[in-house]
Amino acid sequence: MTRSNSLFAALRAAFPADLDQVAIETADTPAPLHYTWRDLERGTAMMANLLRSLELPALSRVAVQVDKSVEALMLYLAVLREGHVYLPLNSAYQAAEVEYFIGNAEPAVVVCASRNFGWVSPLAFRLGTRNVFTLDDDRSGTLLARAALQSDTHEPVRRRSDDLAAILYTSGTTGRSKGAMLTHGNLLANARVLNDYWGWRPGDVLVHALPIFHVHGLFVASHGALLSGSRMIWFNRFDPQAVIARLPEASVFMGVPTLYVRMLAEPALTRAACATMRLFISGSAPLLLDTFTQWQQRTGHTLLERYGMSETVMLTSNPFSPASARRGGTVGFPLPGVGLRVHDDQERPLPAGEIGGIQVRGPNVFEGYWRMPGKTAEEFTADGWFRTGDVGCVDAEGRVSIVGRSKDLVISGGFNVYPAEIEGWLNDMPGVAESAVIGVPHADFGEAVVAVVVPRPGATLDSQALIDALKARIAHFKVPKALVLAAELPRNTMGKVQKNRLREQHQALFIAA
Ligand code: AMP
Repeated sequence: MTRSNSLFAALRAAFPADLDQVAIETADTPAPLHYTWRDLERGTAMMANLLRSLELPALSRVAVQVDKSVEALMLYLAVLREGHVYLPLNSAYQAAEVEYFIGNAEPAVVVCASRNFGWVSPLAFRLGTRNVFTLDDDRSGTLLARAALQSDTHEPVRRRSDDLAAILYTSGTTGRSKGAMLTHGNLLANARVLNDYWGWRPGDVLVHALPIFHVHGLFVASHGALLSGSRMIWFNRFDPQAVIARLPEASVFMGVPTLYVRMLAEPALTRAACATMRLFISGSAPLLLDTFTQWQQRTGHTLLERYGMSETVMLTSNPFSPASARRGGTVGFPLPGVGLRVHDDQERPLPAGEIGGIQVRGPNVFEGYWRMPGKTAEEFTADGWFRTGDVGCVDAEGRVSIVGRSKDLVISGGFNVYPAEIEGWLNDMPGVAESAVIGVPHADFGEAVVAVVVPRPGATLDSQALIDALKARIAHFKVPKALVLAAELPRNTMGKVQKNRLREQHQALFIAA
């Protein structure tokens, strides 16, 4: 079989011969819905024909901020099928954030939840987008109404491996988000490697309970199932009890550490519930050793931890086989085709076991940041390696461990929170002199966002009022879980805020020291 370079064609080629088999079964819609492979074929054709009818320029961006649904996955596939560029946005983003993304990416089409149409559509029209559709998680909205009028046959547009397939925005430490440009080649190379590495096989059943605006749920999980012609049990929302109840029909599950912590809190999580499972994968944030061990004891399964990021898709993985070779606290070995090295601040290679900045290269590494050539140049070394911004080490056997993030990113519940952005909002509020945002350990979220705020002289601040003001402005996952007032911030002789000291000071806010 010749291997196509366009992602949709490769996924389509993996559909089973019998298109009337069920591809996706919904688990949390009012009644279960069964989508066959033929439904995916026809549904994506109709949506792709709708995009074609809009006569968009080649490689137009299609920005999508909707609740999770099978139709939203089909929209992603339809954008690929018509050769455009998919731009998923976290459904929690509010107006100021969405305005930045639309202004920066200049999408030709925006698709939003109908409850947001009132503010998204004027904003999008003002920024030059001419097509705004709605899509809801109950199969309603103008996108489906318009697609229903289209033909259900569509010749997929051919794309080269270096053509853009998706842009994923990763919030920037400076407060400005950067759009990571991923090509068909990046996504396909990674999907194929993971398919082999994790032993995906026909007959696998994936419980899909992750959001699909992020690399984990959209690419790693969906591509894995689609490329092996496997059925998915589809959750629009994660509910630990409901997910555990469906495990006896499944073989593969992927989650961020928070999902595993939540399932561990359920008495229904037993060996019997996991009897048909062959693989539990964790990633997107550090997995606590405690969670790794508890999972082993309760279920008899060893979690497989992997590491990756929006800019590179997946980079490393613990071994699939034997499961006994998976080590808690490490993210495993570089995947086949991925180069990974650790350098110090002066760009000198470090020997095994020494901690430094992780740099990578490979067919999965992105092309650069959308319309930010300067930023792109900064993040690549002269010899073409990408600086991940993660700090870690490689042991003598080649196993990689992550110890932190050079950019002070906080990952709460699997979502990235960039301190600089929250600090920016806080510092703009009346009576605030300055602020520092840190992450502290939290049993449920992995890390909790905490803000330390210094009032202006003479000003009286109310912590709860500041939190409420943030809630009205930014996605709730970014809002600090605690806001502490302080007379000053600790600083080093260079004037830099010592966030490590703040972390030490507040580390027991949510977990006993
Ligand atoms: P994102 O681009 O949102 O996927 O976030 C990527 C970042 O998440 C990486 O740069 C890491 O800092 C972090 N990350 C992903 N997987 C892991 C993991 N298994 N352990 C520790 N950190 C991780």
